[in-house]
Amino acid sequence: MMLIQPDVSLKKYHTFGTDVYARFFVEIHSEQEFKEIQQHDVFKKNTILVLGGGSNILFTKNVDGLVIKNSLKGVEKIKEDDTHVFVKVAAGEVWHSFVLWCVAHNLGGVENLSLIPGCVGASPMQNIGAYGVEIKEVCHQVQALDMKSGELRVFSNAECEFGYRESVFKHRYKNGFFITAVVFKLNKKPVFNTSYGAIEQELKKMEITQPDIKAISKAVISIRNSKLPNPAEIGNAGSFFKNPEISKKKYEQLKEKHPNVVAYPLENEAYKLAAGWLIEQCGFKGKRIGDAGVHTQQALVLVNYGAAQGTEIYKLSQQIIEAVLNTFDVLLEREVNIY
Ligand code: FAD
Ligand code: NAP
Repeated sequence: MMLIQPDVSLKKYHTFGTDVYARFFVEIHSEQEFKEIQQHDVFKKNTILVLGGGSNILFTKNVDGLVIKNSLKGVEKIKEDDTHVFVKVAAGEVWHSFVLWCVAHNLGGVENLSLIPGCVGASPMQNIGAYGVEIKEVCHQVQALDMKSGELRVFSNAECEFGYRESVFKHRYKNGFFITAVVFKLNKKPVFNTSYGAIEQELKKMEITQPDIKAISKAVISIRNSKLPNPAEIGNAGSFFKNPEISKKKYEQLKEKHPNVVAYPLENEAYKLAAGWLIEQCGFKGKRIGDAGVHTQQALVLVNYGAAQGTEIYKLSQQIIEAVLNTFDVLLEREVNIY
């Protein structure tokens, strides 16, 4: 049942867990409900913010508008051929539940993305990625309703303009569309990607020599559980910053000055710097100012120890940006959506 509520605390609807309020709040369960809400005065007269799991957003103020919590559910196989299965997943499905569904059906493509928090509808927003895989590799289509006209628009993979933690939805069409479903093209004969980070090591520990989808998912879950702060225990939104890309020339200059710099070559002759390393070198790892802090094990993750305000976390992120810029002449960009 759809009910627009006034003055709702968003504390339990986002993983930083800061105490902010929405002037209006509604949870919707179907496209039909979205169309009904569009006719409502509250929708017409207010700014709209769509929320999935709230795991990639930092609120620096109350929302003086309508928050729509997306709870559209459903997973449906729509077609298949010799090599692929196409699955339409409603935007409010929990991402990790969908990954487990793929694992159970032995469909490859998202196993490296196990345990990423949030909903399926937000997965194209920043082209979620981990352990060398991004959803752009399996995203066939994104289905979305135009915020103004309510018309359905189907975005092909190319039209999503996926990039590193980027898509057309994150900036150009920000708040322009309500994503209702994503169609994934999953592999019946998957090619595994285990070369990244600690996956191979973890598989060895599990005594697995010939990995399958299930084993890779299990390995990723185990690594993530051991390294990343659980938002249910300590407020955070994962990596707060992107890993910056720099030119080869700039990389060589940095390497000369800082021989231990952690960087990875990219296809375009550029280099990706591990932002966590830069932040750690500036002395921020484990730093705490009031209840805002930098995680003790992963400097890329900012945390709320309990009663931090969004503005305090934001201020800390600004201090980090300035310190990294002064020390390395590299400008960090926030990955988390700032409201
Ligand atoms: P929300 O935070 O609810 O929304 C994010 C943005 O998308 C907001 O701007 C919102 O308005 C918009 N939005 C959400 N749903 C819709 C919709 N249906 N239609 C239109 N706009 C919408 N990210 C990675 O890429 N890789 C990781 O490995 C990773 N690990 C993480 C680990 C932890 C512990 C945490 C807390 C976060 C991590 N993240 C990671 C970030 C985050 O989980 C993902 O970006 C996730 O996709 C966000 O989903 P969400 O539903 O919580 O989005
Ligand atoms: P990690 O494995 O300790 O690696 C540190 C950094 O080095 C990562 O940022 C990763 O870049 C890069 N890296 C590691 N191995 C690489 C390789 N073989 N080739 C190219 N780059 C490599 O990182 P972690 O913090 O434990 O995270 C593991 C994975 O989960 C990473 O892919 C990370 O992006 C993802 N993750 C994302 C979030 C988020 O909120 N966005 C949060 C937690 C974890 P990339 O980040 O570009 O992969």
